[in-house]
Amino acid sequence: MNKGTDIKSLSMDELRLETEKMGEKAFRAKQLYEWMHVKLARDYDEMTNIPKHLRESLAREYPYTSLKEVTVQVSKIDGTRKYLFALSDGNYVESVWMQYHHGNSVCISSQVGCRMGCRFCASTIGGLERNLTPAEMLDQIYAISKSTGERVSNVVVMGTGEPLDNYDNLLRFIHMATDENGLNISQRNITVSTCGIVENMRRLADEKLQITLALSLHGSTQEKRRELMPVADKYDINQVIAACRYYYEQTGRRVTFEYSLVGGVNDTDADAENLCRLVGGLNCHINLIPVNPIQERDFVASERSDVLNFKNKLERKHINVTIRREMGKDIDGACGQLRRRKHLEI
Ligand code: SAH
Repeated sequence: MNKGTDIKSLSMDELRLETEKMGEKAFRAKQLYEWMHVKLARDYDEMTNIPKHLRESLAREYPYTSLKEVTVQVSKIDGTRKYLFALSDGNYVESVWMQYHHGNSVCISSQVGCRMGCRFCASTIGGLERNLTPAEMLDQIYAISKSTGERVSNVVVMGTGEPLDNYDNLLRFIHMATDENGLNISQRNITVSTCGIVENMRRLADEKLQITLALSLHGSTQEKRRELMPVADKYDINQVIAACRYYYEQTGRRVTFEYSLVGGVNDTDADAENLCRLVGGLNCHINLIPVNPIQERDFVASERSDVLNFKNKLERKHINVTIRREMGKDIDGACGQLRRRKHLEI
């Protein structure tokens, strides 16, 4: 028997093989899968139609991923909830639940920490601790779904971590979250955000999924991008844009660009003009996000008038652009701040 196999990260087919090895009938796999991924059981004890002896041997042989809610902060403005979860090894991850007209959306983390080093981002300050398993990514959605009692229809992989730096686990997570035997979320309702790891953007394009790719651009030229994102030392901005074009060609999915506006750094008229030129002719959508200042860095958000001016400049060139609505402004702090605060406490 495969002692220690991460049972909640197994696909239905793999689980069938595993239960076969245990000498169990095929229907057990279906029952187990349903308990884990539909009924969202928090432990084996909840699986009441599985015989006790089997539950006990499962508990001995297969560790069961189940995140523990440490804190939840609820926004008084818009009901956004920010969760801090403890993993079984004592690490923490944060996830966010947001309500929109079109449904409920969860923002999940893909790693504990991050090694990408973006200068304005709190998640990367302590470096990368480890990758999250597929089960740990799924369980952020499951735990939130249980806690709110509501169905999650959209998932954005935009929390702590670089999802394309944890490629295999990310891909397995996507397949499992969209599995009709599990949560059955539509691929079109999943967005993966990357700082721009070119080979893996192309690899993802070749998977021909229907998920949305979001690229964190933040600079309109190679030089500007390098000031904010060390990953730009490795990949030139033109290579990154070419990979976005390739993603669109392979999947037919419009690419999203995230552009965090940093006062006096990337929000000038010249920046807007360069940005128009850079993405010209590409079927895309640009999200403008006034940067969320973090304690450890001295970046400031752009003035409201500069944000509007920037948006107008893009619109005049017929580029789809929105200013991202800031959710949970009263509870938030920037990406990765909650986990970081917890880290400093202990
Ligand atoms: N590593 C991935 C996903 C995680 S970050 C990526 O880089 O895309 C999710 C988004 O939040 C990215 O666009 C990131 O650049 C942005 N972000 C991080 N810290 C921020 C801050 N302090 N203010 C505004 N946006 C921030």
